[in-house]
Amino acid sequence: MGRMTSDLAAQLRGVSLRVTRPRLAVLAALRDHPHVDTDTVIALVRADHPRVSHQAVYDVLRALTAAGLVRRIQPAGATARYESRVGDNHHHVVCRSCGAIADVDCAVGHAPCLTAADDHDFVIDEAEVVYWGTCPDCATARTAQ
Ligand SMILES: [Zn+2]
Ligand SMILES: [Zn+2]
Repeated sequence: MGRMTSDLAAQLRGVSLRVTRPRLAVLAALRDHPHVDTDTVIALVRADHPRVSHQAVYDVLRALTAAGLVRRIQPAGATARYESRVGDNHHHVVCRSCGAIADVDCAVGHAPCLTAADDHDFVIDEAEVVYWGTCPDCATARTAQ
C-alpha cells in the first residue's frame, strides 16, 4: 500500500469506516478529479477496478458523504457533483456556459465567512455561495466567433 493510499485508509479509519477497495478507489478518484458527477466517478473507479459495480459506487458515495469525508454539491440546474475537500467552507465558481466548476476559498475572514443578519438562534457552521460566470475557455471561444 503506497503512502497516498495509506492516507486515504487513515481518513476512513478516522470516521470508523472499514477500509475497502471500492471506498479507497472512490476517495482516490475524487482526490484527483474534484467536482465530478456520479457517472464520472463510476468511470474513473471502473477504469482501475473493473469488478466494482455501479451500485457499489453509489453506496460508497452515500456512505462517504454521510460520514463527512465527501461533500455533495449541486449548483442549480446541474447534476450533483462530489469532492473530497471538506470542512473548510470553500465556495464554488460555476461557468454558465459549460458547467466547469472551480474552488473559491472562504470569502473573507474565518469560516463560515458570511455572517447572517439574523441567525434565528441557529448555530451556523457553513455558508454556501455559488459564484456564476463564464470560464476562461468559454470566454475565449466567444471572442473567437
Ligand atoms: Zn465554460
Ligand atoms: Zn470544491
